[in-house]
Amino acid sequence: MTAENKETEEKKSLNFIESFIEEDLKNNKNNGIVMTRFPPEPNGYLHIGHAKSICLNFALAQRYNGKTNLRFDDTNPEKEEVEYVESIMEDINWLGFQWEGEPRFTSDYFDQLYEWALKLVNTGYAYVDDQSSEDIAKQKGTPTQAGTESPYRNRSIEENLDLFTRMKNGEFKNGEHVLRAKIGMTSPNMHMRDPIIYRILHKEHHRTGNKWCIYPMYDFAHGQSDYIESITHSVCTLEFEVHRPLYDWILDHLYVEGTIRPRQIEFARLNLSYTIMSKRKLLELVQENLVSGWDDPRMPTITGLRRRGFTPASIRKFADTIGIAKRDNVIDVALLEHSLRDDLNKTAPRVMAVLNPLKVVITNYPEDKEEWLTIENNPEDETMGTREMPFSREIYIEQDDFMEDAPKKFFRLAPDKEVRLKAAYIIKCEEVIKDSNENITELRCTYDPDSKSGSGTEASKRKVKGTLHWVSAKHAIDAEVRVYDRLFSDEDPAGHKDKDFKKLINPDSLKTLTNCKVEPSLKDAEPESKYQFQRLGYFCTDRRDSKPENLVFNRTVPLKDSWRKMNK
Ligand code: ATP
Ligand code: MG
Repeated sequence: MTAENKETEEKKSLNFIESFIEEDLKNNKNNGIVMTRFPPEPNGYLHIGHAKSICLNFALAQRYNGKTNLRFDDTNPEKEEVEYVESIMEDINWLGFQWEGEPRFTSDYFDQLYEWALKLVNTGYAYVDDQSSEDIAKQKGTPTQAGTESPYRNRSIEENLDLFTRMKNGEFKNGEHVLRAKIGMTSPNMHMRDPIIYRILHKEHHRTGNKWCIYPMYDFAHGQSDYIESITHSVCTLEFEVHRPLYDWILDHLYVEGTIRPRQIEFARLNLSYTIMSKRKLLELVQENLVSGWDDPRMPTITGLRRRGFTPASIRKFADTIGIAKRDNVIDVALLEHSLRDDLNKTAPRVMAVLNPLKVVITNYPEDKEEWLTIENNPEDETMGTREMPFSREIYIEQDDFMEDAPKKFFRLAPDKEVRLKAAYIIKCEEVIKDSNENITELRCTYDPDSKSGSGTEASKRKVKGTLHWVSAKHAIDAEVRVYDRLFSDEDPAGHKDKDFKKLINPDSLKTLTNCKVEPSLKDAEPESKYQFQRLGYFCTDRRDSKPENLVFNRTVPLKDSWRKMNK
C-alpha cells in the first residue's frame, strides 16, 4: 500500500494496542479510564524514536478520552539533568502534546517504593543478599540451566528487615548488600531468577540530594510508578517483553483490590535507515564536535529536526503512517522526508532564491525601469494569496542553469537559446562575458517585451523548453544558505561491528553558501519560516542564527521525493 492510499483510507482498523484497550474497556477493567505515560530518562535529548512513542502514547489517550503523564525516569542518581528535563518538555510541547498536570519524577516516589520493598520483605518475598553482584551473576545459570540459590536466601524476615533498614540508614558500603525478590532460580526467564530490586549507592541525587543511599532498580521502580499514577496501559518497546513477567509478579504482590492495575504492552521500536538512535552515540557526536550540538539540523533529535525545518504535523503524520509493529524492522528515512514534503507542499509559500548567482543583463530592458509582477504564493492553496516581485534590467539566475556547450537535452539557458523566467518574460542569450581566467562572469540577454506571463498575448503563450527561477539584482537580499544532507552515507551506520559509526559521516552533509540572493519579500522572515525555493527544495530560516539583517536559511529537503517515486 502506498503512503497516500494509507493516508486517505477512511477508517483504519484497530492496531493491536487499541484492540487490547478496547477489550479492557469492554470488560470495564479500569472503570472506563485510559491513562498512558511517556517515561523518558533525562540523560539526553529526545530523538525521532521517542517522537514515535510520544505520538503513540498521547494519541491512544486522546482516542479514548484519557490522559497522558510525563514522567522523568530519574531512578539513577545522575549529575545535573536540568538541561535535558527542559528540552524534553519543550520538544513534547512543540510536537503538539500537553501532559496531564505537572511533570512527574520517579524520585518523587522513592518513599512509597521503599515502603513497598519493606512490604515484600515483611511478606517473605524479598531478602537481603550479602554476596557481591559478580557472585550473584555467576549463580544465575543459563536459560536452559537452573541457577543456584543464594546461601542468604532463607534468612528470617526479622533479619532481612534489620539488614534492609540498615542498608537504608547508610550503615553499609556500596555493593555490600542488595535486596532481591524471592521468586525462584529455575525460571527459563532469567529476569525472574531472584532479581535485584534495591542496591546501595552512596551518591547524591539531583532532586532528593543525600536523602537516599539505596536506589530501586529499574524493573521495581518503573512498574510501581505506573501503579502509583494509575496508568492503565504502560506502552514500551519490545526489549521489555521479557521483563513483563517480573512487572506482573511485583504487582501481584503489592496490588490492592479496587485500584487500577497497569498492563504492560510492547511494540517494536522505531529504527530509521541512515540514522542512529542511541542517546549515547548521539552524545558522542555532540561531545566530539562532529555536529554543532544536540540541535544540529542533521541530528535525528526532535530539536534537530525542528531546526532543520520539519513541522510537528509532518512528524505526527509519519508516526501515524508507519503504525506499530510487533517485530523489529527498519523504516526508510525517505518516508519521513516524504511526510514532510507532503506537508510543506501545501503549507510553505513558494519563493525565488538563487544559491549560486550568475548575473544576467537584459540589454533591451530600459535601465531605469522596474516592474512589480504578481505571483501566486502557492498554487496548491489559493487562500495563500499573491505577492509582488520586482523585475528589472539586471537579474541573477543559477550558475548551473547556463551551459556554454550545452548538450541537446539541456533545457535551460545556452548561447542563442531561449528560456522563460518564471512568472516574467522570455529571454534569449546573446553574449557570454568572461574574465581573464575564462570564468563566466555575466550573460547578456535580450527579452521579448510581449512575452510577459499571464498578459494574454500570443508571445506570452509561446512555449519554450525551460523555465528558470531568478531574482532582480538590485532588489535581491543577500543570504547565507546551509545546504544540509543526511548525516550518514551508510544505511545502517550503527550496524557494523568492524566500523565506527563516526567514520560513516557523510562528508557532504553540510555545504555553506554565503553568496546567495533571495527575493525582497523575505526581508522580514521570522525565525523558523518555511519556504519552497522554486526548483530547489524546501528551506527555513535558522531559528538560532537568522536575523533580519543577516538572513540564514537551512535546506530542509530537496524537492525530489524518492519515496513517492518508489511507490508509484
Ligand atoms: P537509549 O537506549 O538511546 O538511551 P531509551 O529507550 O533508553 O534510549 P528512554 O528515555 O528510556 O530512552 O525512552 C523513553 C521512552 O521512549 C521509552 O518508553 C522508550 O521505550 C521509548 N523509545 C526510545 N527509543 C525509541 C524508539 N526508537 N522507538 C520507539 N520508542 C522509543
Ligand atoms: Mg530507557
